[in-house]
Amino acid sequence: MARSQRQPTESNTCYRDCVIDVNPPSDKQPDPDPPDLGAGRKIIHADCDSFFASVEMRDDPSLKDLPVAVGGSPDKRGVVATCNYMARRYGVHSAMPMSRAVRLCPNLVIVRGNMAKYKEVSRQISEIFSRYTDLIEPLSLDEAFLDVSECLQHNGSATLMAQAIRRAVREELHITISAGIAPNKFIAKIASDWKKPDGQFTVTPDEVDGFVAQLPVEKLFGVGSVTAARMHKAGLRTCTDLRAQSLNDLTRSYGKFGLRLYELSRGIDNRPVRPHRIRKSVSVERTYEKDLPDLATCIHSAKVLFEDLQGRIDANNARARIDQCFVKVRFSDFTTTTVSNMGNKCTLADFEGLIHSGWQRGGQPVRLLGLGVRLAHPDAAGQLALFTDSEPESESESGSNDASS
Ligand SMILES: [Mg+2]
Repeated sequence: MARSQRQPTESNTCYRDCVIDVNPPSDKQPDPDPPDLGAGRKIIHADCDSFFASVEMRDDPSLKDLPVAVGGSPDKRGVVATCNYMARRYGVHSAMPMSRAVRLCPNLVIVRGNMAKYKEVSRQISEIFSRYTDLIEPLSLDEAFLDVSECLQHNGSATLMAQAIRRAVREELHITISAGIAPNKFIAKIASDWKKPDGQFTVTPDEVDGFVAQLPVEKLFGVGSVTAARMHKAGLRTCTDLRAQSLNDLTRSYGKFGLRLYELSRGIDNRPVRPHRIRKSVSVERTYEKDLPDLATCIHSAKVLFEDLQGRIDANNARARIDQCFVKVRFSDFTTTTVSNMGNKCTLADFEGLIHSGWQRGGQPVRLLGLGVRLAHPDAAGQLALFTDSEPESESESGSNDASS
């Protein structure tokens, strides 16, 4: 769901920022009357099954019955970003060195991955989610929380909504997605894993207590391998064991995290679903009172726009995510052309080169000139790291930001 914002500033310069999943900017006052986050919430955690590998198998049917891993090359210290379920049967898993994966599964088919394609499919999945709610919190390209508490479709049944979402993803995009349905994010996330691949699992409010009681401690948000080992040493293996501890005991042993453990072990998680505001571009454009007569004047005028753009990029803390620069030229007859250039430098000379190419397409006076940069998805930066040819230094504790499951 892309929307554009236009904020007029000086006489005729305008800033055009494309954002998706709009929510109030963080510097705004919090909602004075926040919704009750207790009983009655309906959260879906939707998670594609071996996302990158599924997209590759969809696009190349010859891979269908073969073990497939997407990732870097085995002789250059590459790692597995995602592998399909057949490869998993050989013990291959994400973040594993590709050289080891190939030893475990000698006939493994390695696909080099195409982040632009995965981002596009991710956008299409988000569009399906948005048919049910605007409260979508993406966790990575293939995973998101949806708050459907206010959605009236399917008689308000989140279970039926999840079914419909999964059907739409399957029929329209030809990949599968699993879902967990629960009264909060913590339980929905665990539940989505319960019937994977291509399944869903609902934990109703009545079932929360029993469901959580038997969970091993390492299923809790924030409990990584180090904390889990400490708990095991103390004889704490499940949430039932944690519940036997007083809040005082837990805070003495685990500090501030003790309160969180106290709540999670009882199935309490009041965190709201927070739609991210993801900026996709930053740009500046100006309509001139008098048309710019020739290329030299355009190039000269670009200097001011360039300075302005630099300030905007820094104000949005977006410099590290730049992956393209572009120029927009509107001629006196209102025809408009856009020229872009891959790269993360975006110097004045780059923009001058683009203006040169753009101007030649029309070869007449110019009424509007715009300069901008397109930004990489913030998650893509992390996921792209999986395609570089080096082993990860350590596995993340949360494990929620890979596209492996
Ligand atoms: Mg997944």
